[in-house]
Amino acid sequence: MPTSPPPGRWTDVARATGLLGADDAVAQTIFAEMTSLAARTGAINLGQGFPDVDGPEFIRSAAKDAIDAGRNQYAPGDGAPELRRAIADHQRRHYGLDVDPDSQVLVTTGATEAIAAALLALVGQGDEVITLEPFYDSHAAGIALAGATHVPVPLTADDFRLDAAALRAAVTPRTRLIVLNTPHNPTGTVLTRVELEQVAAVARDADLLVLTDEVYEHLVFDDATHVPIATLPGMGERTLTVSSSGKTFSLTGWKVGWVHGPAGLVTAVRTVKQFVTYTSGAPFQPAIAQALDDDAAPRALAASLASRRDLLCEGLTAAGLDVVVPQGTYFVVADGQHLAERLGVADGHELSRRLPELAGVVGIPVSAFCRTGSPTASALAARVRFTFVKREDVLREAVERLHRLPR
Ligand code: GLN
Repeated sequence: MPTSPPPGRWTDVARATGLLGADDAVAQTIFAEMTSLAARTGAINLGQGFPDVDGPEFIRSAAKDAIDAGRNQYAPGDGAPELRRAIADHQRRHYGLDVDPDSQVLVTTGATEAIAAALLALVGQGDEVITLEPFYDSHAAGIALAGATHVPVPLTADDFRLDAAALRAAVTPRTRLIVLNTPHNPTGTVLTRVELEQVAAVARDADLLVLTDEVYEHLVFDDATHVPIATLPGMGERTLTVSSSGKTFSLTGWKVGWVHGPAGLVTAVRTVKQFVTYTSGAPFQPAIAQALDDDAAPRALAASLASRRDLLCEGLTAAGLDVVVPQGTYFVVADGQHLAERLGVADGHELSRRLPELAGVVGIPVSAFCRTGSPTASALAARVRFTFVKREDVLREAVERLHRLPR
């Protein structure tokens, strides 16, 4: 047997996500790589975004009850009826969106499947797909899986805002779809209504579809408000909105996500999804239906995350790492330039790889969210993403460790 994998579509995926080259035989995501690095070195893992406290007991009990009640065989292909109803109610209650639970909602195995299935369903060879840059890795992977061409549009360098002129300039006759992500991973930017109006104008003018990843919709801070682009005039008919329960309820391993939009677009996604996973985790679906009816848990999580964000941002700043204070998500991007210089390491990528050994803390290089060799990747070479979805004592210890670095 060959020791390295044979050629195939996997190489496109690995190339699109910057994983080809280092070690072709181990093309795993930067998140998995950094988590195993943390485990190997005993460092504090502020890399991969997952909570170190599980979601509410009533939701976990509901899943156990569903198992005991016999919800253990295939769920309906488009998702359990009570979950589709809860998703439609949630969208109406929070955003005033009118969603038909029977024809306009599809339950998926996390947002990741929704995004990949939507891209596979709707774009292909010769189509251009725009994302913002930095971008979440699975968006680039999905575009590569579909065989389409990825056109990244950089956010502004200093404060990670939309560059509307650059977005408009990126559209060509081949552009089919814009992948949006707000609140944005890795920067924590929450796009304002004005920015979203600018995206919407481009989509309407060029007759584009929009696929929007809103998994951090409830994790917004201060006076930021999450606005789904599907609520803007003329956008409901061209937008697929993706979200999931993992972030909202601190249950990232359950992988219950969904997509909603016009019936025709949802039918296209369902057609692909049924041959990827067929159906998704049956007993988790009624549990998430109960969870979605209750807004208290996400509200409490957002409040506690806001104070943990403050703790980490203040600690990073005190340790000499400047931050762009995020308005949402699990993440803050810090500038490691000065620290890298002090420690004599080349850039953020090198800094992220050596921080476990140097400081006992793990972060993710922001260049992993950029196209390899792109101007954005160079501009953000010294930036490192840290997560604050960890217990306060863990964050305090991480901050102390960074503070102890030579200055
Ligand atoms: N979404 C999480 C992050 O950005 C982790 C996802 C993953 O491990 N693929 O860190």
